[in-house]
Formats: sequence, C-alpha cells, structure tokens
Amino acid sequence: MADRLCQMIDRIYEYGQADKEILAALIEEICCFENNDALEYLRQLAYKTAHKYFGNRIYTRGLIECTNICRNDCLYCGIRKSNQKIERYRLDKEDILDCCEEGYALGFRTFVLQGGEDGAYTPSFVADVVKSIKENYGNCAVTLSFGEQESDTYRLWKEAGADRYLLRHETANKRHYESLHPSWMSYENRVRCLYNLKELGYQVGSGFMVGSPYQTPLHLAEDLLFLTELKPHMIGIGPFIPHKDTPFAGMASGTLKQTLVMIGLLRLMFPKALIPSTTSLGTIAPDGREQGFLYGANVVMPNLSPVAVRKKYMLYDNKICTGEESAQCRSCLDLRVKSVGFELVVDRGDYKE
Ligand code: SF4
Repeated sequence: MADRLCQMIDRIYEYGQADKEILAALIEEICCFENNDALEYLRQLAYKTAHKYFGNRIYTRGLIECTNICRNDCLYCGIRKSNQKIERYRLDKEDILDCCEEGYALGFRTFVLQGGEDGAYTPSFVADVVKSIKENYGNCAVTLSFGEQESDTYRLWKEAGADRYLLRHETANKRHYESLHPSWMSYENRVRCLYNLKELGYQVGSGFMVGSPYQTPLHLAEDLLFLTELKPHMIGIGPFIPHKDTPFAGMASGTLKQTLVMIGLLRLMFPKALIPSTTSLGTIAPDGREQGFLYGANVVMPNLSPVAVRKKYMLYDNKICTGEESAQCRSCLDLRVKSVGFELVVDRGDYKE
C-alpha cells in the first residue's frame, strides 16, 4: 500500500498534477488511514520543493482586521450578519495607519487589510486608505481582503495602489458551496470575482477550508484542480473550526493531519506559490504552524490589529493570538520559525515566476 501511495505522490511531484480520482483516493488513503510512510514521504518532497524555491525563508504579512461588520451570512463564519452576540467594530483610517506604522517598525513589508463586506467601507474610502499607505510606505505591498465586490471597485482599488487580493473560493463544488453559504451568494459570482482580480493584474490568493461540513475527499480533489486552472499566486488553507454562535456549532473540526496533507499536496502542485501556515492551524494544535512549515508552507500572517478589537474578530472558536501586542506576536513567531530551522525575513515576499 505504502509503495503504491508513494508512486502516486511521485507522479504529482514530477508532473504537478493528477486526475481527480487519483487525488481523491490519495487524500482519503493518507487522511483516513494510518499510512504514515506515505505521509512522511509527502512531507519530505514538499519540504524539499519549498527549500528549492525559497530556501529557509519564511515571509511575513501584517494582518489588520479592519471591520467585523458583514452583509453576508456564511454559515461557518463567526462574524456573519445573523450573529447578534458579537460586539461590532470598524477601524477608521487613522487606526489603520497607526497599525501600519507599528508594523513597519517591526519589519513588516506587506500589510493585509481584511474585513467583512461592510457597506461603510465604500470603494472610495478603501481607495483613500490604500493611497495613504502607499504614500507613507512606498516599499511595502498592500493586500486587500474585503470579499466579493464589483469589477469597478476592484479596479479603483488596484489603481489606488493595491498589489494583492485574497478571496478564498472555500470549495470548488457548486452544491457543496451552496451548503455552506446563504441562498443569495453564488459560486459563479465567487469564481467571477477571482478571474476578474487576475485580469486586473492583482497577485491573487485563493484557498479553501479543510474538513468543512459535508466535505468529501472528492471535493478536496476538485479544490486542487480548480486551483490548477485559476493559477493563484497565494493559496491559503486552514482547518474548518466551528464557531459556537453559527449554524455549524457542534460540527467536527478539520484535523491537523488533513490540513498538513493538503498543504503538502499544494506545495507539490504549486511549487512557487506563497502558502501561509495559518492561525487556524495554530489553533487546532500548539505546534500546528511549525508543522505547516515542515510540509511546505512559507508565509505567516501575524496580527497587527489593535489588541482592543482582536477578540471581536472571532471567525471561529478559541482563536489564538488575540491578547498579545503586535511586537509580542512578532517575536513569538520568530522563535517558532527558528525552532524548525527557518528564518523570518523582512521582505515584501512577492510571487516570482
Ligand atoms: S466569511 Fe466573509 S463574507 Fe462570509 S460572513 Fe464571514 S466575513 Fe462575511
């Protein structure tokens, strides 16, 4: 069995892709059964691939959680509009620029502005914030993550200076997508947004949850194949973790092993992609992020948000790093990265062909 699985992994390493059925079978065999030799073989090849392109460098992005107000109602999300139990907040321009100032001094050269689809974050407001960041920190990249927007809005933000955009597709199976989202959201629109962002010249990040409700190995294989068509520059994945005040409260979380397997496969299929080891991975296991690096991840996104609002941006339960100052987060990550033989670098960390 191990030999057969290792041969499948070898083929993915060599060709960068495989058929849907082969991917699904491999994912199921490694994730659901004790195939530790194949798991370790996948890890070694993923680690070797990441080292070939990035050495021992891990890129950082300073994450600013700008607003927890959202018009949407994704069933898995703790800040969905139906959740009446959270205290809502919205950072203003000065707050965001203060976060950037602190982040720059700590060595961050990418700022990620993330938030719900908040009507008060108008196209012109966000464009103005982006312009100010680029005026103050011309050597930094600005990444936006404010969900699905009109094409004109994406264009305006790009012209204001935004470099990158993160929008996870969450699942590439239309029926599965509909089981995770309210009826007014559509898979087609999500895909339209992603291709629109690429056409506009953004470095685009997409990705999916691992272990989300109703997900099967075939869905995960479809996610990988969708990404081979989209060809994103960044791929963010993390385990699904339920939030107690959502319809998915009480559902099982994705596991560390499943997520590491998917990171490893992503690294083999997208050798040059920027792949974060996410906070959610660190939430389900104390050393989850370190293990992510050993499976080929090469980015971390520590929190630069004001400590006063961090506990209010709870997308899922028990999220870590909500109490520490930004400087503490940075030095903690420095140590974690070093503990597994890597180095945090001061660098924009752009995608390179
Ligand atoms: S996942 Fe994003 S779009 Fe959906 S409810 Fe949460 S913040 Fe809003």
